[in-house]
Amino acid sequence: MIQTKVDLRSDTVTQPTPVMRAVMAAAPVGDDVFGDDPSVNALQDQLAAMLGFEAALFVPTGTQSNLCAILAHCQRGDEYLVGQFAHTYRWEGGGAAVLGSVQPQPLSHQADGTLALADIEAAIKPDDVHFAKTRLLTLENTFGGKLLPFAYVQQATDLAAQHGLARHLDGARLFNAAVVQATQLAEKNMINQAVAPVLQAHRAIELETIVKQARRIAGCFDSVSVCLSKGLGAPVGSVLCGSAEFIGRARRIRKMAGGGMRQAGILAAAGSYALDHHVVRLAADHALAARLAAGLQGLPGVLVEPPQSNMVFVDLVDQAKSRAPELLAFLKQNGVLATGLYRLRFVTHLDVDAPGVDHAVAVMRDFFKRQA
Ligand SMILES: *Cc1c(COP(=O)(O)O)cnc(C)c1O
Repeated sequence: MIQTKVDLRSDTVTQPTPVMRAVMAAAPVGDDVFGDDPSVNALQDQLAAMLGFEAALFVPTGTQSNLCAILAHCQRGDEYLVGQFAHTYRWEGGGAAVLGSVQPQPLSHQADGTLALADIEAAIKPDDVHFAKTRLLTLENTFGGKLLPFAYVQQATDLAAQHGLARHLDGARLFNAAVVQATQLAEKNMINQAVAPVLQAHRAIELETIVKQARRIAGCFDSVSVCLSKGLGAPVGSVLCGSAEFIGRARRIRKMAGGGMRQAGILAAAGSYALDHHVVRLAADHALAARLAAGLQGLPGVLVEPPQSNMVFVDLVDQAKSRAPELLAFLKQNGVLATGLYRLRFVTHLDVDAPGVDHAVAVMRDFFKRQA
């Protein structure tokens, strides 16, 4: 048996920490379908308040959260505008179409992950019997590990609102986006004020600053879904936020989809703990991704996209082009797990540390040295 030394497949692989498990075990619970679970209610209130919404809904998965959102915004025969590679289009089994008879209208991404404003506008159908009714724009942030520029988020969501569309954010990694945005702003201020950059760069960004950025992003949308089971490190769950009226509709759909859970407070307590204790540390995941990217830079046949958050994407080029399966197998033999469906992907998270990253870099270097 090969021992896994570092699992970089996804930030979903994290183990709940001992403290998180203790908090879960001690959580007060009730029947959440009756609205009785104090830990679920506390989590919902907590995230709604953090992001500036009236209400929130705890759901088992991000997929179900997005499904509830799309079906709460759209009726049968409506359509939503969505990125060609967005989770809400490509990675959710076509749920909105299959279960809700809501048609996706996928749009190509620009290099920075955005959907061009002109493409959004052109895809909005006129009121005509030939067309589905365009009802909703969904964006994803971070998208492929990239922060959508805030000015873009404002423009795209303003455009959607001008055309009477609702706006949903798949913010599975909203707090990663908020950390990147907070870091970028801090760096900009540093340059403006010309203060000692070394000292500043090592000062951790505070929770309050990150939450402020998350709220700024969320404020552009009618609904936002956040995953607790990605970088935040909870074992299960997502939360959908929106107006009280919208969440009422989403609650019905959640029940229909089989997501009405009972003593779910055991899970929700892990989410609350993660919101309190695992947001600031996302910056450490981003730093480890940067360390990994730096280590892989310059390897022959390897093109590394400079990471913004916790994901490193690597393209194999030239002679290495078709060797992803071989490389992934070699990594696995040497205790490094990664994925490579479209491009090689390495994701840092709570259970990855610097020695793990350095090991992954060493194994990658070894692979290309052997093959040189
Ligand atoms: C993980 C993820 C989801 C939801 O995934 P589940 O596995 O259903 O919890 C939604 N959107 C994005 C962008 C994701 O990364």
